[in-house]
Amino acid sequence: MKTRAALFHGAGQPLEVREIELREPRPHEVLVRLKAVGVCGTDLHVVKGEWERPKPMVLGHEGAGTVEAVGAEVDLLQPGDAVVLSWAPSCGECADCRRGRPAACIELQRAIGNGTLLDGTTGLAADGETVYRGTATGALSELLTVDADVALPLGGDLPLQHAALLGCAALTGVGAVLFQARPEPGSVVLVVGAGGVGQFCVQGARIAGAAEIVCVDPLEARLEQAARLGASRTATPEELPETLRGVAPDGADVALDAVGAPETTSFSLRWTRNGGRTVLVGLPAAGERLDLDPAEFVRREKELTGSMYGSEDPRHALPLLLEHVRSGALQLEPLVGPTFTLDDVNEAVEASLAGSPGRVLVLP
Ligand SMILES: [Zn+2]
Ligand SMILES: [Zn+2]
Repeated sequence: MKTRAALFHGAGQPLEVREIELREPRPHEVLVRLKAVGVCGTDLHVVKGEWERPKPMVLGHEGAGTVEAVGAEVDLLQPGDAVVLSWAPSCGECADCRRGRPAACIELQRAIGNGTLLDGTTGLAADGETVYRGTATGALSELLTVDADVALPLGGDLPLQHAALLGCAALTGVGAVLFQARPEPGSVVLVVGAGGVGQFCVQGARIAGAAEIVCVDPLEARLEQAARLGASRTATPEELPETLRGVAPDGADVALDAVGAPETTSFSLRWTRNGGRTVLVGLPAAGERLDLDPAEFVRREKELTGSMYGSEDPRHALPLLLEHVRSGALQLEPLVGPTFTLDDVNEAVEASLAGSPGRVLVLP
């Protein structure tokens, strides 16, 4: 079977949109026609050459579409169903899978590093050579086969351009608050970084019942967006000490670093109160190291932890997020940014690299 997809050949080179070979769905797989694919920070790490990946590779892992065909053993999905992709197909057997963290699955991490599915294959080829999959997915394609377990049914009539955001940014940001940071109702929550994931951390904090949500970002447009989505106070990094003085002079109960750079992690930890919790949500470039003051943990008893893909099995977290979408508590539409066709995928990547305040979407 053939499809058109965007191929990454190396940092500094444009993505190439071309026809490639796609393996027919196997018994446990479904064939999905992608309708909307978000450009995520993870894709940008690869594009910028900050993470080494095998090439050529189809990037993209935040996708929504409709089921086109199902394998013989698939009984919970049928053609026509609207689905959002999870990028965590997992082995189901390792310690992380058993504790309900498929995104941390050791087999999945190996597959992501190798640019394949869990079984080491990709099901994609061009000119007789293997084409690799970004984040065990490879969604920047018109058609894609995925394991039925990672095609999560959306139900209802949620527009697919909004639904795509659920597949990575929303699960990551909202999940990090609800399932890892777990602020007490009435807490002061600090969100560092107001990109896509940060905006969902803000919404997660609102859903969790935080009394004050302080959002920090150098860009004014992003702060305005955060304020619309529930941040009670916003500040640039320089303004933060003054802003926190009025709400939490000892620091926030919980701080989330939605950027993941060493400076933002130190900053988040610094503005967490004694005994509070800092959660690293954004992913750093490969090789980055943290320079930490042990007194933060001994004398000040702070906790520093991280959250991968919302710290919950996407199959359990997604239905909960959908309930919040239906009730209006979780807003997707304001976070949808500019849209591009697959042929204009390089403009989409550029818009995302330039820091578009809304999620950049490719509509294959
Ligand atoms: Zn992502
Ligand atoms: Zn596993």
